[in-house]
Amino acid sequence: AKRAAIGAVKGPGRTADGHAVPLLANVAGPDELAEAMAAGAEGVGLYRTEFLFLDRAEAPAAEEQRRAYRAALEAVPGGTVVVRTLDAGADKPLRFLPAPAEPNPALGERGLRLFRRFPEVMDAQLRALADAAEGAPAELLVMAPMVATAEEARWFADACRARGLSKVGVMIEVPSAALRAGQLAGVVDFFSLGTNDLAQYTFAADRQLGTVSGLQDPWQPALLDLVAMSCGHGKPVGVCGEAAADPALACVLVGLGATTLSMGAGALGAVRAALAAHTLEQCRLAARNARAQVTAANARAVARTHLPGLA
Ligand code: PEP
Ligand code: MG
Repeated sequence: AKRAAIGAVKGPGRTADGHAVPLLANVAGPDELAEAMAAGAEGVGLYRTEFLFLDRAEAPAAEEQRRAYRAALEAVPGGTVVVRTLDAGADKPLRFLPAPAEPNPALGERGLRLFRRFPEVMDAQLRALADAAEGAPAELLVMAPMVATAEEARWFADACRARGLSKVGVMIEVPSAALRAGQLAGVVDFFSLGTNDLAQYTFAADRQLGTVSGLQDPWQPALLDLVAMSCGHGKPVGVCGEAAADPALACVLVGLGATTLSMGAGALGAVRAALAAHTLEQCRLAARNARAQVTAANARAVARTHLPGLA
């Protein structure tokens, strides 16, 4: 009966009282793009571009990149596609970008930081994105991973705008970015919360290490605090980390101020149903009470008392 109820909720994401929360898909290649559309995604909230660069000695040709980005834009006519520029390094090593041997790769040159050393790779990617957007049936938004400061955000935004890419955002996945979200909001058009890395860096707990996985729990109240700090600066805030795929936590994220949620296609139905079953006020109450807890387990338990019906 539960399964039938989840499948029965159709259409765009919204709370029980009609507050719209667009439900978008995380996509890491053409197959996932098709899956996401079949699952009713309202757009692409995180288009991971690493797949184009994997197992190669050199960067993909401009035309190959352009075609891949164009295919994503054509899959969601009238919608939006948020493309993340190459996020290489640490848990996503790439052969063709020679990262220096570092004792702590997650704290080293990765994501946007690698583009400072290889600006030609960024420039080629931004050019291919601009070409793909020309005359496309969907809106293209571009964002950078691993941004720590407003100065980095400005450098990236300037490079995008110089290429005619006018909707520019940053991922908030480093605590300093959440702490200074107000300043970042003056530099870019939107934020996207990467709760996987944000948890890793907030708790100094390697996301690839099972031994410290308890500290990576996205229900940790300190992580909820950083989400709250990232919201309310007059710019849209998406969540594209794994946290958005947990139906109860998705409601809490909306209660904290998230404006869109992006997840793997398989999670869309359950999150859509969870939002449809609760009002924005219930989500806010769940969020406020979850933040007031000391442990992740209690945050989750308390949130659920305000979100009846969620298993
Ligand atoms: C994240 O860090 O939460 C995120 C969405 O990006 P990735 O998992 O690809 O680092
Ligand atoms: Mg990340």
